[in-house]
Amino acid sequence: MKSIVTGGAGFIGAHLVKLLLEKGHQVLNLDALTYSGNLNSLKSIAYHHNYQFLQLDICDAVKLESAIIDFQPDAIFHLAAESHVDNSIAAAGAFMQTNIIGTFNLLETARKLKNRNFRFIHVSTDEVYGALGETGAFTEETPYQPNSPYSASKAASDHLARAWNKTYGLPVLITHCSNNYGGFQFPEKLIPKVLINAVSNKEISVYGTGKNVRDWLHVQDHVEALFAVWERGKIGETYNIGGGKEWRNIDLIREICQQLDQIKPKYEGSYQDQIRFVADRAGHDFRYAIDNSKIEKELLWKPRFDFETGIKETILWYLSNEEWWREK
Ligand code: NAD
Repeated sequence: MKSIVTGGAGFIGAHLVKLLLEKGHQVLNLDALTYSGNLNSLKSIAYHHNYQFLQLDICDAVKLESAIIDFQPDAIFHLAAESHVDNSIAAAGAFMQTNIIGTFNLLETARKLKNRNFRFIHVSTDEVYGALGETGAFTEETPYQPNSPYSASKAASDHLARAWNKTYGLPVLITHCSNNYGGFQFPEKLIPKVLINAVSNKEISVYGTGKNVRDWLHVQDHVEALFAVWERGKIGETYNIGGGKEWRNIDLIREICQQLDQIKPKYEGSYQDQIRFVADRAGHDFRYAIDNSKIEKELLWKPRFDFETGIKETILWYLSNEEWWREK
């Protein structure tokens, strides 16, 4: 099997590249290496005989087409994106370019592939569904209601992927995943940011009251779900992927601080003393939660990691891989 991963030098992409190599795929990683792309995340497989890397911007339609047509993939896992909500609020342009135009370029090129078994896995987020109240969970039928420039750009790309399936018969499958955690996540995201600020003796900022709720999934569970969708998913279908582990941000931050207090105690006091509440993020979605029943029933996938073990392992990973997060 020949697979292309776009954004393979990013957090989830790097884990996916490694999984595909383990499964015996030949992998071409197409990544522009923006600020969040890091080839050091792929050191362990950089010289693998089945692995190739090409630095390429998916907005460059000409180079993209030549790379894809030369490689003749059986699958494209499309993960390349601008992925940080705060950045999208500060400057939305790159999100529109990469997430929408880049996806359009990929879909157009994929139409030119003649391989009958080809599949296009479009990796999206639960954030396209907007915000939930205290109860309920997103299903695949939940209407789109994106609230941030990031989620709006991902929603637009989902609509393109769906339309290329309906109009041109492109074999597209779409996934919507909840918040991922694990090693190799760029330090702008909540969990690594809290960890790194804690051990660097900096303030740990919490938006608003910290009561916003997120559903957390270990990145390894996510990439295994993507593999299941590629292997067993039905073309034209959408699959939600979640961890079923809801945490209020403030509780999660306190949990990380408590675990750090045990693993790497401060000279005096607790890491919780560094917590500071700051002005809320504009348009901050209150709660996300995923209903996993479709993927569990139809593809027999379910998350393997329990959160308590996964978060401990993640804390230990960041503590022992300081050179990885300091480099960037
Ligand atoms: P990331 O920011 O860690 O990685 C993104 C990668 O895409 C980087 O390696 C970057 O260099 C590359 N990239 C950016 N613009 C590019 C371009 N124009 N051309 C080629 N490469 C480009 O992101 P991530 O957290 O790994 O997310 C990967 C995908 O999963 C995204 O599509 C995101 O929307 C989706 N997703 C992420 C989460 C999460 O919790 N992180 C949850 C659900 C869905």
